[in-house]
Amino acid sequence: MPVEPPVVTPRTLADAYATLAGAPHRPMAGGTDLMVQITGEIGEPPERVLDLWRLDELRGIALSATGDELVFGALTTYTEIRRSAVVAARLPALVEAAATIGAAQIQNRGTLGGNIGNASPAGDTLPILLATDAVIVLGSTRGERGVPAAAFWTGYRKTARADDELVIRVRIPVPARRVVRFRKVGTRRAQAISKVVLALAYREDGGVWRDVRVALGSVAERPIRVPETEAVLEGAAARETVADHAAAVISREIHPIDDVRSTADYRRIVTARILHRLLREEGGW
Ligand SMILES: Cc1cc2nc3c(=O)[nH]c(=O)nc-3n(C[C@H](O)[C@H](O)[C@H](O)COP(=O)(O)OP(=O)(O)OC[C@H]3O[C@@H](n4cnc5c(N)ncnc54)[C@H](O)[C@@H]3O)c2cc1C
Repeated sequence: MPVEPPVVTPRTLADAYATLAGAPHRPMAGGTDLMVQITGEIGEPPERVLDLWRLDELRGIALSATGDELVFGALTTYTEIRRSAVVAARLPALVEAAATIGAAQIQNRGTLGGNIGNASPAGDTLPILLATDAVIVLGSTRGERGVPAAAFWTGYRKTARADDELVIRVRIPVPARRVVRFRKVGTRRAQAISKVVLALAYREDGGVWRDVRVALGSVAERPIRVPETEAVLEGAAARETVADHAAAVISREIHPIDDVRSTADYRRIVTARILHRLLREEGGW
C-alpha cells in the first residue's frame, strides 16, 4: 500500500518559499500528475508535498500594460484559459491546446504551472511556450528569475528549476501580426496523451515569413524546437515547394522513439504531414 506523504498547505507565497528553503517538498498544484505518482504506480512517490492550491498570488491571467505580453499565474487552470476572452483574442492557439487536455475534470484542476513543472515531453502547452518565446518565472527566498522556455526543459523530465524554487508565473509575448498555430495528434479527441504535438509561430512580412518557430512535443526526450526546419521557412514565401522542403527536413531532423503510444516511424511521418498541412492552410493553396 502506498504511504500518504505529509502535506504542508501554506497561505502565502512567502510561507511556501520558507517551507521549500527548509526542506525539500514536491510542489502540488492541481495534483492531476502528482496524484498518479503518489500511488507509486508511476515514478518516485514524493516524500513531502507542498500544496499550492490556496496561493491566490499564483492565480490570474492579465495583459501587460503595454499590451504586448500575456501573464499567467502558475495556478491558471485549462478551464480558465478556455474561458478567457483576452487569451482567445491574443493567443487563440493556447485556448485550442487547453481544450485538448484531458477532459473537463482535468481541465478544472490541471494548471499551466503543473504542465511546465511536470516536464513531460508530451505536455501539450509546452511547444506553444517554446514557439512564442515564453519566459517562465521562478521564485524562491532568493528572489525571482526568468528562464526562457528554450532553456527550461533540460532533459527527460528535467528542468532548470532548483528544488527550492516554484514556477510562479509565465510571460508570453503576444506581438501584433504574429500567427500561432497548434496541432495535436492523439488516439482520440479527449483523454489522449499526444503522439505528436506541434506549434508553429511566424509573422508575415511583405509576402515572406519572419521569426519562424516550429516546436514539437512527444518526439524527443523533452519538448524541442527544430532549427533546421525553421531555417527553411525563415524568409521564405508560403509556397508548396517550400512546404515540401520543410516537411522533408523536419522528418530528418527529429529522432523520435517507439513507445506504448506510437512508433518512431509513425511520429516522423505524421510530424512532416501536419507541418505540411499547416503550411498549406497558411499559404491558402
Ligand atoms: C486523465 C488525465 C489526462 C491528461 N491529459 C493530458 C493531456 O491531454 N495533455 C497534457 O499535456 N497533460 C495531460 N495530463 C497531465 C496533467 O493533467 C497536466 O500535465 C497538468 O497540466 C498538470 O497540472 P497540475 O496542476 O495537475 O500539476 P501537478 O500534478 O500538481 O504537478 C505536476 C508536476 O509539476 C510540479 N509543479 C506543479 N506546479 C508547480 C509549480 N508552480 N512550481 C514548480 N513545480 C510545480 C509538481 O511538483 C509535479 O512534479 C493528463 C492527466 C490525467 C490524469
